[in-house]
Amino acid sequence: MSDPHKEDAAAQALDTRLTRTGKSPAYFGGTPVNAPLVRASTVLFDSVAAMRDTRARRSDERAFSYGARGTPTTFALEDAVSELEGAYRTRLFPTGLAAIGMVLLSYLKPGDHVLMSDSVYEPARNLAHSFLAPYGIRSSFFAADGSGIEDLFEPATRLVYAECPGSLVYEMCDLPKLAALTHARGALLAADNTWGSGVQYRPLALGADISTMAATKYLSGHSDVMLGTVATTREAWQPLNERCDAFGMTVSPDDAWLVLRGMRTLSARLQMHERHALEVAHWLQARPEVAAVFCPALPRHPGHDIWQRDCRGTNGLLSFEFKPGIGNAAVERFVDALSLFGRGSSWGGYESLVAWTHMRAARSVTDWSARGAVVRLHIGLEAPADLLADLAQAFTAAKA
Ligand SMILES: *Cc1c(COP(=O)(O)O)cnc(C)c1O
Repeated sequence: MSDPHKEDAAAQALDTRLTRTGKSPAYFGGTPVNAPLVRASTVLFDSVAAMRDTRARRSDERAFSYGARGTPTTFALEDAVSELEGAYRTRLFPTGLAAIGMVLLSYLKPGDHVLMSDSVYEPARNLAHSFLAPYGIRSSFFAADGSGIEDLFEPATRLVYAECPGSLVYEMCDLPKLAALTHARGALLAADNTWGSGVQYRPLALGADISTMAATKYLSGHSDVMLGTVATTREAWQPLNERCDAFGMTVSPDDAWLVLRGMRTLSARLQMHERHALEVAHWLQARPEVAAVFCPALPRHPGHDIWQRDCRGTNGLLSFEFKPGIGNAAVERFVDALSLFGRGSSWGGYESLVAWTHMRAARSVTDWSARGAVVRLHIGLEAPADLLADLAQAFTAAKA
């Protein structure tokens, strides 16, 4: 297998390409650095023939034909995400969850069966019960590390949906191996790549057919816009593209413009998030209240060897488990005492966040009932020493 991080000798480094992709069309005179914001519903043509010609070609080519089919701004973001993911093409969605829902809608039909990782983002798990089951699409969950998946395939399995590293405790799975097993049975492999954001992890280079991201997180990077992406190989493109056109799936060019702007600093921000998160992770490992720290870059994390092989780095996310004797009241005092960590959902912005997770509800294959409370931190761009001081005083407050 080729090294997913080794840059193609003919291509420029990813960091360079991130500054050059998704650019303005040429004008007479000069061009701005960034793609212009183009808002449109109606698009005008000089003649019936020109309109007919554009409509005939718009499924396969970049053609500006109607707002619902995208504008030059959303096209620029699609191109930038395709570059990041190493994809043939990309479609955009109003949220990361909408992107996942559209993958299920595009590649599954009644009678089919889907295999989902036990570690998927919880609202994606919920779709199996609330949406797939009533439409006659069956689902089974496989262990987050991929073990035992061979026995779960059925003749009707059309899609394997993975998330690596997994949500909340960052379980690793061997994606190239999963891809080989999936393809041998004639099914497609989709992966949620929100954690890796195309910089730290690239599922398509590891054998996946479809990669989704919540651009709401690191791509936008500023906690002020919602957007989802689905990028595919050339072979997997058509079902998604057709279903999106049929449903009128599009996003606001304003939101696309904001995400495109965020992406210019994606790699730089991730390097800083990683440095700060590792400092906090090491500090937490030495705390007497902490039973385990979850972050795939830590040598004692299960699957650390796969992380070393398949990922370029980590990000600002880490979770930790309180020792089982520490009760819910103490955990709540800890979370409430933090002042530099915002209490809120989501992550990927420049600021630190804390969230109390519910691992028992978030996993069905792995039993978390005997484990301590798990708190997720998103480590932002603040000075690590200030974050450590805040965490230390919150541990003291938890004892009160
Ligand atoms: C946040 C998240 C999503 C959903 O993104 P939204 O834009 O909030 O809908 C999907 N997958 C993962 C792994 C996420 O963390």
